[in-house]
Amino acid sequence: MPLLYYWRGDNYRDDLDRGAAYHLNQGNPALHDIAIGDSLWAFTRREDGAYVLAAELVAKALTRNPPGYRYGPFRLWGDLARSRYFRGEGQRDITSLIRTLAITAKGDQLGRAFQGNAAVRRISQADDSILRWHAATLPLEPRARLLPEERLEALLQSGDERAVADLFQQAPCGIAEAPRRYLLTEAVTRNRQYVDELRELYLGRCQLCQWSPRSIYSTDLCEGHHLRWLGRGGEDSRSNMVLLCPNHHRAVHRLDAPFDWGVMGFKFGVSMHPLELLCHELTAAV
Ligand SMILES: [Zn+2]
Ligand SMILES: [Zn+2]
Repeated sequence: MPLLYYWRGDNYRDDLDRGAAYHLNQGNPALHDIAIGDSLWAFTRREDGAYVLAAELVAKALTRNPPGYRYGPFRLWGDLARSRYFRGEGQRDITSLIRTLAITAKGDQLGRAFQGNAAVRRISQADDSILRWHAATLPLEPRARLLPEERLEALLQSGDERAVADLFQQAPCGIAEAPRRYLLTEAVTRNRQYVDELRELYLGRCQLCQWSPRSIYSTDLCEGHHLRWLGRGGEDSRSNMVLLCPNHHRAVHRLDAPFDWGVMGFKFGVSMHPLELLCHELTAAV
């Protein structure tokens, strides 16, 4: 079942400033009513007061956040290849379009009908088609484009600041200003330090499968992986990082495997792989 979501303007802008997350957290369990492959349509209120379409997240996985997580226990992950953020500027107001949908949205001020749990609404396939038709001609938000994370992490680990800067130049995509500044200035040195710390903590072993290159080859081959990707606003911190063998690291990226705090593990398609080793604190990055 597709969903419609009202994304408060300040939260939406904040998310874009830090790097589009391509996921959504909610306290309302209705978020998990969506079928995998169905769309969550998000609309928001622009600073000039107009209501505009903000994003389409095509559901790829549904996971739980840790107990007490400030943005609610339910998370929806958008499929990176199919989800999109729309550019707010230049869009025409969609108040009348939203009111044609088979949902209750009374009152002068559209946003007021979508407060609290009413922010997430189930919509019909017909309503989904209306929104899709409207979205067909909308330009995309350049700040929501993704960086090639696998390459970025490899460069961060090698500590090659120049190569990181080149990646921004070459990548056919923009990136929000805050993460760009951070990645170019601090991330290169900090990343190495955290990976070293995790290697010491886990004796170089993969936290998912306990593969131990130190005992087999007397060298370190496991890599730091950011639970929330740096290019998606993730922090370069130990609590946003796990140590993975190259195979698992590649699998996590190839499948964009989300991390589930309910089981403390990655969701690879339908199968769940809990971390076998965990002795540092992980926080659910916002
Ligand atoms: Zn592994
Ligand atoms: Zn990674």
